[in-house]
Amino acid sequence: MMVPIRCFSCGKPVAQYWDDYKNGLKKGKKSKELLDSFGLDRFCCRQTMIAHADIIGQVAQFKV
Ligand SMILES: [Zn+2]
Repeated sequence: MMVPIRCFSCGKPVAQYWDDYKNGLKKGKKSKELLDSFGLDRFCCRQTMIAHADIIGQVAQFKV
């Protein structure tokens, strides 16, 4: 779905890193390097980025 604006557990804003994270992965960078470069040290914030599935485009096809 949509990128979580804040970490679910600690509340740190993480959404501003999503585009850089996604583009970095496409370029072949490692997830660890990217998360370290963003300064996301806590495992709760890291899992929020790693576990996010970007399916808003698919869900948006289904209108009410
Ligand atoms: Zn967190």
